Amino acid sequence: MNTLRKRVLTTLTCAALVFAAYHAWRLPFYEYAEEIYTTTKDRLFTLDWLLHLIPLLIILGLSAIAIMISISAREKLLSQNTAARRFASAHSETSGKRLPGQRASGFMVIRWISMILFSFLMIFGGTLLGARFDKISIPVFSCPVNMSQLTESSCYYLSHLADLFSLPVSDIILFFVSTIGFALVLGRMICGFLCPMGLAQDLMDLLRHRTKTEGIIMNDRMYGALVPVRWTMLFLMLGLTFIGGNFCNFCPAVTISPVLAGLQVSLFAGGFMMVIVLTGSFFKRRFFCTICPLGYLLGLFHRISPFRITKDCTACTECGACYDACPMGIKAIYKERENSDVTEITCIMCGECVRKCPEDKALSVTCLGRSVYTSSRDKVVRNYR
Ligand code: SF4
Ligand code: SF4
Ligand code: SF4
Repeated sequence: MNTLRKRVLTTLTCAALVFAAYHAWRLPFYEYAEEIYTTTKDRLFTLDWLLHLIPLLIILGLSAIAIMISISAREKLLSQNTAARRFASAHSETSGKRLPGQRASGFMVIRWISMILFSFLMIFGGTLLGARFDKISIPVFSCPVNMSQLTESSCYYLSHLADLFSLPVSDIILFFVSTIGFALVLGRMICGFLCPMGLAQDLMDLLRHRTKTEGIIMNDRMYGALVPVRWTMLFLMLGLTFIGGNFCNFCPAVTISPVLAGLQVSLFAGGFMMVIVLTGSFFKRRFFCTICPLGYLLGLFHRISPFRITKDCTACTECGACYDACPMGIKAIYKERENSDVTEITCIMCGECVRKCPEDKALSVTCLGRSVYTSSRDKVVRNYR
């Protein structure tokens, strides 16, 4: 009965998502009041540019309201129900923040600088440096409606394969060479170090820690429930264009680069998706990454990427600290007892497991077999003094 209910629920969720996606194309959700897709230096930071930020401010406001409603609903539920309180204390997350006096590791500093710098270039790069790299596609979620980005984001042509194959052959070749090249060389380091959607989600996680709000720890069942959503998203991204739909109509990435560049973009389906993404990633770190179709495609190449998470199984005490810290719920990092390579296709290479591991050299991020970041008991103990 349970299995039947699960299947029915899964089927209904997938059907609702496909239905919503199809209608997002039919209704005038995704509109541009102006026919401009680029920005100029003299337009940046002007009143006109500020006015174009209003949709983003509304999205942020709606996300703040959704977060506050969720927090007060949770508090009310917990104050009335002992069983719910017990469940919440087992599934809430307060760890992960830096403690007072704790120094951020070099790996994490580089990760944050890289995400911020790349996101900045994906907003203003073309305007500031000239459109030198606009034929190069990089597999991140950073809407290329803003044509002033440093490079193009592969998400547009991946979700409009029919359009891609109508381009000149040289452009098609350049698209595949650059997209696959980046995916092969960097794998999901792209998720941990470059993607602007990843940065937006990490900022929400940072905000949660700053406001000392409890997050949600997802268990296996919760991750399992998201698998059909991820498959549906993948189907919508690659296949919607072939049945006359447009994935961009409800893609949350439309509210980052284009809006910050000062272009007039959707407040509707994409904007409301972004409210869900921001609210979800406030409570659950990298919430959208668990269902991201592009992340899934990157994961396929991650199998052969030179960047790996490796484990010295003899040093591991199976304490589970790495699993608790992992935003993608990857169990192999603490369960694996034989193989040293514990890189999974869902790993976004954030390094949180390494940072939280209390055993010397039990976990490492490596590149071509050389360690670039390794766990240290000393560093973990120092944080609790
Ligand atoms: S999983 Fe998707 S949204 Fe998340 S960082 Fe990777 S490409 Fe970006
Ligand atoms: S945190 Fe380190 S010691 Fe603990 S289970 Fe993970 S790898 Fe093993
Ligand atoms: S396994 Fe480690 S590096 Fe990969 S997502 Fe989990 S915490 Fe991040």
